[in-house]
Amino acid sequence: MSTSGEVSESIEMYLVSIATLQAEEQPVPISLLAEQLSHSPVSINEMCRKLVERGWASYQPYKGVTLTVEGQALAEKVLCRRRLWEVFLVEHLGAEPQEAEAFACQLEHATEDDLAERLAAFLTYPTYSPQRKPIPSLFGAGEERPARSLATLATGQCGQVINVVADEAVKEFLNGHGVCPGITLKVLAVAADGSLLLEISGRHLSLSRPVALSVDVAPLTETAPFDAGPNPRPNGGSALSSSRDPDASEANGGGDCS
Ligand SMILES: [Zn+2]
Repeated sequence: MSTSGEVSESIEMYLVSIATLQAEEQPVPISLLAEQLSHSPVSINEMCRKLVERGWASYQPYKGVTLTVEGQALAEKVLCRRRLWEVFLVEHLGAEPQEAEAFACQLEHATEDDLAERLAAFLTYPTYSPQRKPIPSLFGAGEERPARSLATLATGQCGQVINVVADEAVKEFLNGHGVCPGITLKVLAVAADGSLLLEISGRHLSLSRPVALSVDVAPLTETAPFDAGPNPRPNGGSALSSSRDPDASEANGGGDCS
């Protein structure tokens, strides 16, 4: 089974490996690819020839391979499936992020377009994996969704947690309630004092505004886009309500769950 009919699992793994490696170095040396895939340079050469024949990669002698636009798109399609399965396995089956990635690498090759779309919708279109790797868009070149503070989300809006920047006690508290990078949540209500009622993994959680400010999220477009129209939060006059500035100082923080 494969994600696009004629593309075999091993071709998909080559495409994904080259895509990952070429983010660091381009073209990708055959030796590096051989190491990554634990294949002999001879079989790597043979496969690269196939990729070139099919228009998915170009090859420069003594330098290595580079994906074409078409090859890159195929690689992102597979990676998108992998990351979606990772989110599913971690959020809904309680898998550890690393074991989730290994399982997801098997599932990605057996995930047809229709299933991938249903999975993405079920997960409310996450943008980051549990290991905080960006998820390529199902629909081609991704729209960047910049992070903002959870406290800026409006009632009804969903977001995916990207980072938590707080002291250990607060992080531990949030972690204990499932607020970790990669998790999606929904704002059910915003109180007059700015505190939030959230739905997260089917449970409800109330966070004070200062705590919500320490959580960075990528808003998901389930409701109206964030920038369309006035912010409905009751204390919209606050300096903190309409800008990312208060969070700028958090940019270098950690925020790992676990
Ligand atoms: Zn795989």
